[in-house]
Amino acid sequence: MSEHECNGDCGHCAHAAEEQADAMDCRVRHNLAGVRNAVVVLSGKGGVGKSTVAANLAAALALAGRKVGLLDVDVHGPSIVEMLGLRGATLMATEDGRILPVDAGGVKVMSVGLAVEDPDAAIIWRGPMKLGVIQQFLSQVDWGELDYLIVDAPPGTGDEPLTVCQSLPDPLGAIVVTTPQKVAAADVSRSLAFCDQLAFPVVGIVENMSGFVCPHCGERVEVFSTGGAAALAEKYDAPVLGRIPLDPAVCASGDAGVPFMRSLAGTPVGKAFADVVSGVEKAAAERPPRREG
Ligand code: ADP
Repeated sequence: MSEHECNGDCGHCAHAAEEQADAMDCRVRHNLAGVRNAVVVLSGKGGVGKSTVAANLAAALALAGRKVGLLDVDVHGPSIVEMLGLRGATLMATEDGRILPVDAGGVKVMSVGLAVEDPDAAIIWRGPMKLGVIQQFLSQVDWGELDYLIVDAPPGTGDEPLTVCQSLPDPLGAIVVTTPQKVAAADVSRSLAFCDQLAFPVVGIVENMSGFVCPHCGERVEVFSTGGAAALAEKYDAPVLGRIPLDPAVCASGDAGVPFMRSLAGTPVGKAFADVVSGVEKAAAERPPRREG
């Protein structure tokens, strides 16, 4: 108990909590001072390819010569470690106690999956612990100078994506990943409404698993119903950055720990993803000059 009797919601405690939050904001702002464009990858639900998009966006930007960081705060499904072949990598700290990200092909990576002892164990953390870890990664990881920090956020519109979006100073914005069905679009609509309510900018929508290009005849087959992303793009006035087809090679590269942007550049998937990368680079080039201080 503090020096006064209190159940935690008196003016004194509210003021102390406010001060603590301000101090954290300040630490995050200071730590991310070298990050030019923070991009949060969001989705309405799991399994739509959010981590695949985050990992390959980071890899493609690094291949294009950009300085890139990738922060995976998808607490309950930290798949970035597997997707970038980082299983077994160990975290190091600087002398002043800051955490050093791990290198994956020129991308500086930090993931909840690197911070736990057993990557296969279920992560059973209550809300405050999850939020504390996200804030720690934003305030204590030594990101240095980055052109892009890509953040793989947990799916949905709960506390964790809220913490990520509210903690990032001066972000470039969100990329919202969906699949083409109208049902999936309903979930994504909530992610876009979430950005709207937070006044968090939206870089664009990625429609993943959008059709299947037959490897034999090259014909495109629509596996799911279509039009979900286009309808959302119109409603929220956000561009569709790209439509990534289903391709078993995408899944295989994720399982092998090698981003597909390193091996599938000339394929329909590689070309579609290149549109996403150009959309992000265009948004970064067109944003107003950065606020200093
Ligand atoms: P999320 O982060 O939304 O939960 P993931 O990125 O982990 O989703 O993707 C879920 C699974 O789908 C992974 O096995 C991934 O390799 C696979 N996948 C994602 N996009 C595609 C695609 N376009 N074609 C084939 N498989 C894909």
